[in-house]
Amino acid sequence: LEAQFLRAQRLESIGTLASGIAHDLNNILTPILGAVQLLQMFPLNAQQMRLISMLEINTLRGADLLKQVLSFAKGLDGDRTLLQLKHLIDEITAIARETFPKSIEISTAIDPQLWLVSGDPTHLHQILMNLCVNARDAMPTGGILSIEAQNITLTPSQLILDPEAKVGPYIKLTVRDTGTGIPPEILGRLFEPFFTTKGLGKGTGLGLPTVRGIVKNHGGFLLVSSQVEKGTAFTVYLPAIQGTPALTSEPTELCFGSGE
Ligand code: ADP
Repeated sequence: LEAQFLRAQRLESIGTLASGIAHDLNNILTPILGAVQLLQMFPLNAQQMRLISMLEINTLRGADLLKQVLSFAKGLDGDRTLLQLKHLIDEITAIARETFPKSIEISTAIDPQLWLVSGDPTHLHQILMNLCVNARDAMPTGGILSIEAQNITLTPSQLILDPEAKVGPYIKLTVRDTGTGIPPEILGRLFEPFFTTKGLGKGTGLGLPTVRGIVKNHGGFLLVSSQVEKGTAFTVYLPAIQGTPALTSEPTELCFGSGE
């Protein structure tokens, strides 16, 4: 237990250090980007134009990476609203259908009477997006990405699922893929900040730690099950408000994106 505590502490200081560096680097990148954009207003020949746009693209890329590091370290609190996750899932599947390779089939199964959760829409969006992007990356030659959401009331015998599990109503949200699966030897490292197998410039290793942080902040927990060459399922349990009306009609003030 003590070893676990020390490890958590060590990871936390890595996070603090990283966000400090990210912050300073961001302050350095901002004037570079400003200057690059100013330069583009001068009359330039083709080669100068190319060089400057290369500068711009790479500066933007760096800024983007820093933004991810900062949002990871920023604490994952956020605003709380009553949300119908169905709307969030619809939104994510629309984006995925639009932007993921056509070789990936996207299917959803959502309880029509899905209860509401109290949560931060931006953060919950981030959870689903991160899990879907990971699913996409795990299926380079195509496959099926499915998102499922159902009501579940945990009973005392189900508390073994996770130390954070409590008796009561939850939404069980599953993102499943038919991809590469996760080798058992790296399963234990998935949630370490900066752990990635995606190679330089592709993965940041912050997706899953961010997902876990957000889920924890919403009082929930998450489980992973994976089989090499068969696929992976991430299951998020979010505390729900039982008996809340199903929002079958158009989004109202209870829905994603509308704020308080
Ligand atoms: P990143 O996506 O930037 O690598 P994550 O924290 O989201 O960072 O994921 C860490 C690692 O976990 C990934 O590099 C990958 O090896 C593994 N992983 C995550 N999701 C999946 C999945 N659905 N299938 C296979 N491997 C996965």
